[in-house]
Amino acid sequence: MKTGAAMNPLFANLPTTVFEVMSQLARETGAINLGQGFPDDPGPEDVRRKAAEAALDGYNQYPSMMGIAELRQAIAEHYRRHQGLELDPMREVMVTSGATEALAGALLALIEPGDEVVLFEPMYDAYLPLVRLAGGVPKFVKLRPPHWGFDEAMLRQAFSPRTKVVLFNNPLNPTGTVYGAEQLALLARICVEFDAVAVCDEVWEHMVFDGLKHIPLMAQPGMRERTVKIGSAGKIFSLTGWKVGLVCAAPHLLAVLAKAHQFLTFTTPPNLQAAVAYGLGKDEAYFTGMRAEFQRSRDRFSNAMRGLGFRVLPGAGTYFVTVDIEPLGESDDQAFCKRLVSDFGVAAIPVSAFYAENPVTTVIRFCFAKRDATLDAAIARLSKLERKVA
Ligand code: PMP
Ligand code: GLN
Repeated sequence: MKTGAAMNPLFANLPTTVFEVMSQLARETGAINLGQGFPDDPGPEDVRRKAAEAALDGYNQYPSMMGIAELRQAIAEHYRRHQGLELDPMREVMVTSGATEALAGALLALIEPGDEVVLFEPMYDAYLPLVRLAGGVPKFVKLRPPHWGFDEAMLRQAFSPRTKVVLFNNPLNPTGTVYGAEQLALLARICVEFDAVAVCDEVWEHMVFDGLKHIPLMAQPGMRERTVKIGSAGKIFSLTGWKVGLVCAAPHLLAVLAKAHQFLTFTTPPNLQAAVAYGLGKDEAYFTGMRAEFQRSRDRFSNAMRGLGFRVLPGAGTYFVTVDIEPLGESDDQAFCKRLVSDFGVAAIPVSAFYAENPVTTVIRFCFAKRDATLDAAIARLSKLERKVA
């Protein structure tokens, strides 16, 4: 019987993603879930109403596999207004079922077995299994706390003439690092030199604080023709279960990505697409207000954590703050997160889950995108932690 050992070892040997494990533990134990990244706010009511109306008004049959025209136009217009990009909605924009599908499709379409793929560690946990599925050979740039930056030497050690793709995440999950013009220009220069395609995961593009502005890698010199830009409406509108991915790339790249997409999901619920098209057109005040509210939550949570003796690492984007538990006398992020959920009723994510080898680290990630009452309740629980050192 072709069971058990005959299954694809790539999947058979994979652990269940840490986000599912931690959320399941939180559901079972009633812990406050600051692990998986989702807000406890229900999301903008007008956007949700549009989805409901669209479901009632007839947007329910298969739409074009590329996405409904009004959403593709809205995506192009949105990125023109917010990021200064000029995109042809019909030839350079595609809608997928979440950024996850966009990433899978892009990697499957671009990588041939044996191609080298540059990844930055820590990295979102889906990246490496997808690169391996496509037959890619991973090469790592190892980012270091507290600033998680990179320099030319670090890039040169990972890039080679065999590099086909670089998979870059900005702002970076889990650390909240926002890469600015200088780092992007350096990465672009190296991509051009090695003739690599950049798959740029920009799902956190609107979640940028402290007056910083998101810069798309695609806008760097030489990158327009060689970048696949990936966004997520679930993140933009804090409706994480919606799974509407936004893909932008030059026509010669997008045409191939579409071939992968057509046999992964083919299309994405049209009612949600219609609502996202509406949402992307919301005025500047909506986006500014949203950012200000998340920034306030980040600061509230970070200050309280500092008060408890955690070393809060710098970060200016995403829903996440990372903290170093070493000053508390702790040395193992995974053991600490297990104890946190079972003994203290708070779920968090060990940052070791964002590394290829799952090494032990002393950094853990908390999602601060919660109501004040949720954050305060979590802090009250965390305040019962006893320090192992004075
Ligand atoms: N990339 C990154 C960096 C993410 O953090 C996430 C989810 N939070 C995704 C991709 C997946 O996005 P989606 O839910 O749209 O598939
Ligand atoms: N991106 C989310 C996070 O980092 C998780 C998404 C998922 O659970 N797949 O928390």
